[in-house]
Amino acid sequence: MLIAAELKNLLEPSQLAGLEVTWLAAGEPTPKGDFVAIVPLLSRWVGGTELKNLPNLRIVANVAVGYNNVDVVAAEMRGVMVTNTPGVLTEATADLTWALILATARRLVEGVDLVRGGRWTGWHPEQLLGLELRGRTLGLFGAGRIGQAVGRRAPAFGLRILYAARTPKPEFERDTAATRVDASRLLTESDIVSLHVPSSPETKGIINAESLSRMKAGAILINTSRGDLLREEALAMALEVGHLGAAGLDVYANEPAIHPRLLAAPRTVLLPHIGSATEETRRKMAAIAVANVQAVLHGKPPLTPVYGQV
Ligand code: NAP
Repeated sequence: MLIAAELKNLLEPSQLAGLEVTWLAAGEPTPKGDFVAIVPLLSRWVGGTELKNLPNLRIVANVAVGYNNVDVVAAEMRGVMVTNTPGVLTEATADLTWALILATARRLVEGVDLVRGGRWTGWHPEQLLGLELRGRTLGLFGAGRIGQAVGRRAPAFGLRILYAARTPKPEFERDTAATRVDASRLLTESDIVSLHVPSSPETKGIINAESLSRMKAGAILINTSRGDLLREEALAMALEVGHLGAAGLDVYANEPAIHPRLLAAPRTVLLPHIGSATEETRRKMAAIAVANVQAVLHGKPPLTPVYGQV
């Protein structure tokens, strides 16, 4: 089987028992051959050509909850199972989303730059004034596992919660007093909009010049989901003209490249896709991916198949 080489240090030998492993280096193209399983990172596209070159493949065990790097339809047509790693990364990603909310609202990066740049001249009553969270509205665009986990942390900060999802979440509403609204109301009423829908043909580019123009003046946009949900140049322009208050991003449309205009735009906190980056979570993600392979190769159902999930 093929496993992304970057996972070597995160896996125990016992988890790989009985498997004949070929480690697949980051820049190396996906090889042809009689491999029965592949464990790719989200940076590796597994589409029609790759599947054709791996005629004996039985499973693509993606090491992420998102699986927009896999052509699921092509895999299903070839009878290849596709699995992901839901659940284990929920809390770590929700924590990082909050790191971005707080960093953007309270202008953390600008403050650090001021101090490190030797330009801080002392306390000033109007220095780096940010957004007071208490009494404001957090809009969750997508309220699945991660969206809800972000929302569950919000009452402690005195935020009112709106959410948009395909189906209502009664338990979440009961626990957090969240209100389900349509996407349009979410955009116009939220002080902070946080994206938690997966990347799919329906969600690509949902945040564009038009939707940005409907956001409140001074609002903050957070994206810890997938980069292609938003148009980077349109976001840069909304920040340049001062319509948006700030943007906190962990993901980009064409990673690791970032649109130059967005890189240069004011009031951004830009992270290098580290939503799930804690030791515990990354170990669990690698473990689930390999456990899915072990299950399928032993004729058992996989633990976390993607079919029917979204
Ligand atoms: P999830 O539990 O499947 O939640 C997805 C949510 O999106 C659900 O509320 C779903 O609605 C909603 N949704 C899906 N399609 C929609 C559409 N067309 N319109 C409106 N709502 C839609 O997924 P999750 O575990 O929370 O993960 C969310 C995403 O986070 C993943 O897909 C992944 O790309 C990203 N992620 C990023 C990182 C990172 O490192 N930055 C880490 C982990 C995950 P229903 O509930 O009604 O179906």
